[in-house]
Amino acid sequence: MKTLVWLREDLRIEDNAALHFAAANGSLQAVYVLPEGLGEASRWWLHHSLSSLAQSLESDGVDLILKTGRVSHVIPKLARKLDVDQVVWNRVYSPSGMEIGRELKEQLNNDEMPNRSFNAQLLIEPGKVFNKQGGPFKVFTPFWRHCVQTMRIDECLQTPELEGFSHSVRGDELDDWGLLPTKPNWANHFPDHWSPGEEGAHKGLRSFLAAKVNAYNGGRDFPAQDNTSKLSPHLAFGEIGPRQIWHATQEGINGGWVDAEHGRKFLSEIGWREFARYLLVHFPHLVRDPFNARFSEFPWQDQPKLVSAWQRGQTGYPIVDAGMRELWQTGYMHNRVRMIVASFLTKHCLTHWQVGMDWFWDTLLDADIGNNTASWQWAAGCGADAAPYFRIFNPILQGEKFDKQGEYIKRWVPELGKLSAKYINKPWEAGANELDQAQIKLGSTYPYPIVDHKQGREGALAAYQQIKK
Ligand SMILES: Cc1cc2nc3c(=O)[nH]c(=O)nc-3n(C[C@H](O)[C@H](O)[C@H](O)COP(=O)(O)OP(=O)(O)OC[C@H]3O[C@@H](n4cnc5c(N)ncnc54)[C@H](O)[C@@H]3O)c2cc1C
Repeated sequence: MKTLVWLREDLRIEDNAALHFAAANGSLQAVYVLPEGLGEASRWWLHHSLSSLAQSLESDGVDLILKTGRVSHVIPKLARKLDVDQVVWNRVYSPSGMEIGRELKEQLNNDEMPNRSFNAQLLIEPGKVFNKQGGPFKVFTPFWRHCVQTMRIDECLQTPELEGFSHSVRGDELDDWGLLPTKPNWANHFPDHWSPGEEGAHKGLRSFLAAKVNAYNGGRDFPAQDNTSKLSPHLAFGEIGPRQIWHATQEGINGGWVDAEHGRKFLSEIGWREFARYLLVHFPHLVRDPFNARFSEFPWQDQPKLVSAWQRGQTGYPIVDAGMRELWQTGYMHNRVRMIVASFLTKHCLTHWQVGMDWFWDTLLDADIGNNTASWQWAAGCGADAAPYFRIFNPILQGEKFDKQGEYIKRWVPELGKLSAKYINKPWEAGANELDQAQIKLGSTYPYPIVDHKQGREGALAAYQQIKK
């Protein structure tokens, strides 16, 4: 039997349900259709991920055929040209991903082309999990407790033996897609930090479980330390699946080399990823609308100057600026700092969470529709299970708590490199002598705060009062 495998957010060979099914049924070819609306940083990752996957597939005689256009046109046409017996793919759990899958299925059914889809993206099929009342969970803790108690996670699939078949179809050239930035090449530092592709993903998981996981719970909050897995872009592109992470971590816990408390905390973060996709499946409007409908009336302000300073890491709050510059230079930002910068934008700057979400979408290598949407709504106070709006992060205290010595700040904001720990989170309080010695001229080498913390906090609370009634 000949199968066409449509690859999507599952750019891997191992534990890939659709690919495995195709391989078990005979020979196959693979196709990838360029999705619309990818952010710029994601395009960089995608280029390298596709290039790496194409090389791995090629060694088994399988081509990764690249195509652009509407999936429901492109794939049925390709299936006819390749004269395959069936088309298979893994589902993408996002409103647009599900719609595209549905449309393709309908077309293939009309064409009488056998087709089948699988779950390789999540541990938990969102349509199968409900609370006691039969509705969807809206709060993480009971959702995850229910999942951990009831889910049975199958073993990972065995590495498939792939076999291609000969054909004369020509796809696009990857280079012609122009996914990489050129002038300027703002991604030139990315390769210092990342190795896109399945091999890089497994290396990342192995080194995390071998050397970092036992400091994860607690350690994961300190941005200067390297205590998290950095698997997020690999997960976003499906170079590794959550089931592989689950079993590798459990194996470590059972074998005694992964401390159970830390291992479970790490797996619960994988659970947050599950919950974010789950929410999108049950509440698809969340991509654009607040979960808490009251926030539709929130008096967000149009603040282009503040937004620009935030994007450039020039807010005058060192921990915020360090995060925004880490993002720009590496395509990544530490989770604790993501929460701080998101709170600052939505509360101190009263800027709509979608503005921040769109910037993250464009600049994050791990841009993920589920995690990005849920996290921005959480930070803005309007999401499911969100931080209450009135809990406003104080960027000075957050910095003093999680980057007391300013190690992280100094890494990304070098102009503050000589400032003492006492003032590193509030340079405007340092005296003239201290600033002179640290070669800092406020308002010139480093900005004054663009919003006074106390005023920003009061402004946010006053705005919240307007929708509270
Ligand atoms: C405002 C904001 C926007 C965010 N946008 C994204 C995004 O677009 N893509 C994205 O993958 N994550 C996003 N996150 C969640 C989180 O910051 C990243 O997943 C995490 O920092 C990735 O680093 P890591 O792989 O080392 O995480 P680890 O701590 O090693 O966690 C392992 C995995 O669990 C998942 N995870 C961890 N924390 C969260 C979380 N809070 N919510 C959901 N899943 C989580 C990720 O898939 C992560 O790779 C966002 C958080 C905030 C506050």
